[in-house]
Amino acid sequence: MTSKDFLSVIEKEASPQDYQRYLKQLIYKKISSDENIAIFEAPNKFIASWIKSKYSKLIQDCFEKFNGTKPKIEIKISGEKKTKKEIIQEQVKNQTSESTILNPSYTFESFVVGPSNQMAFNAAMAVSKKPGIQYNPLFIYGGTGLGKTHLLQAIGNEAVEHNKTVIYVTIEQFMNDFTFSIKNKNMEHFRSKYRECDLLLIDDVQFLSGKEQTQEEFFHTFNELHNAKKQVVMTSDRLPSQIANLVDRLKSRFEWGLTADIQIPGLETKIAIIEKKSELNGINLSREIINYIASNLDSSIRELEGVLIRINASASLLNQEINLEMVQNLLKEQIKETKENVKLPDVINIVANQLNIKPSDIKSKKRTATVANARRVVIYLARELTHNSMPDIAKFLGMKDHSSISHNIKKANELMESDENFKIIIENLKNKIINKDY
Ligand code: ADP
Ligand code: MG
Repeated sequence: MTSKDFLSVIEKEASPQDYQRYLKQLIYKKISSDENIAIFEAPNKFIASWIKSKYSKLIQDCFEKFNGTKPKIEIKISGEKKTKKEIIQEQVKNQTSESTILNPSYTFESFVVGPSNQMAFNAAMAVSKKPGIQYNPLFIYGGTGLGKTHLLQAIGNEAVEHNKTVIYVTIEQFMNDFTFSIKNKNMEHFRSKYRECDLLLIDDVQFLSGKEQTQEEFFHTFNELHNAKKQVVMTSDRLPSQIANLVDRLKSRFEWGLTADIQIPGLETKIAIIEKKSELNGINLSREIINYIASNLDSSIRELEGVLIRINASASLLNQEINLEMVQNLLKEQIKETKENVKLPDVINIVANQLNIKPSDIKSKKRTATVANARRVVIYLARELTHNSMPDIAKFLGMKDHSSISHNIKKANELMESDENFKIIIENLKNKIINKDY
């Protein structure tokens, strides 16, 4: 009996509706070697189990009529028959379901509070206790590796404890989900997912930049939630007003509630964080070592964690005793590696991106205040974060004379002392470059 024969028999026996919807997707493969199992393939689990429970008997009867046997029915899933679309669909589904799971270790308890993050922390606590009431939206911004995702997920974890429905996604996942739903004409599902939650937590919204359609959809999602007094919390590496190519109506909405920043932590907070993290990881560090790490790493907490992991690995894998000398060597290595990894074009691209100008402007002869400032930032960071000499940097930037490089560095050093804004810009950029966040 061929698969076609089989279907023509089944078609006569089954209800036309069932046949059209499900049964005709069934493919008859063969009777297994012991002659007592008829093997079929169905496109997915759902159809397989539906047919099995409702039509097993009919299928058996059908076999009986044909060749006198009454085999058991086995329906396999035809994995290799999946269309490309279905495969992508599954991937996206996995992606979203994976990443929407909150990391249980990102809680308020495991977050060390200090002057650099106090305001963001307080706002996050308030929002998790009373979503949609006080600060809506809450917009948390700050440099890489300073705890934005941690705080955002802590809000989620706390709210889940209070039986709220929480959606946590990065803006990129939101966008993937959105384009996927358009392609598959499944907008209804998308909209109900994002508009029927108590808290929508969206990470890294700076990536909305230039994504017009996603901005449009996010605008409606935002309005719907805000009108229904549902909480929206967003993080970004910069203020709404500094996100390039973001429509004004979103910029203004992002500022409706509270914007709270996270700064690079001061020495005491860094010490407290190292203490907490080493305790959580079961590493025993002397006061001297903790102080040494805290005063020699200034870029991000992610980097601090990297150092702790290295210390732990050296101690347990190489059986080394944890002492100051060992930690000094590890840190030296880490700093050296960073310098070898950072390339001049990276520095230019990231500065240009962050300051919203074109990379080519920095290498041009333009002398507007914005471009001159960006060039100074590039020069300063290139000296700090790479092994390049002043003549190297001058050559790369198309400057004839490296005396202007040293002049720029001198000026930048002065600004680091006198201009708080300049200092913050430099520190945030340093962060991004060291953490390869570009
Ligand atoms: P961001 O999202 O701002 O780039 P993350 O939230 O991913 O940064 O933080 C990087 C790492 O540093 C995480 O492992 C996080 O737990 C840790 N971290 C950041 N800030 C703190 C803090 N104040 N206390 C404890 N851990 C922190
Ligand atoms: Mg993050």
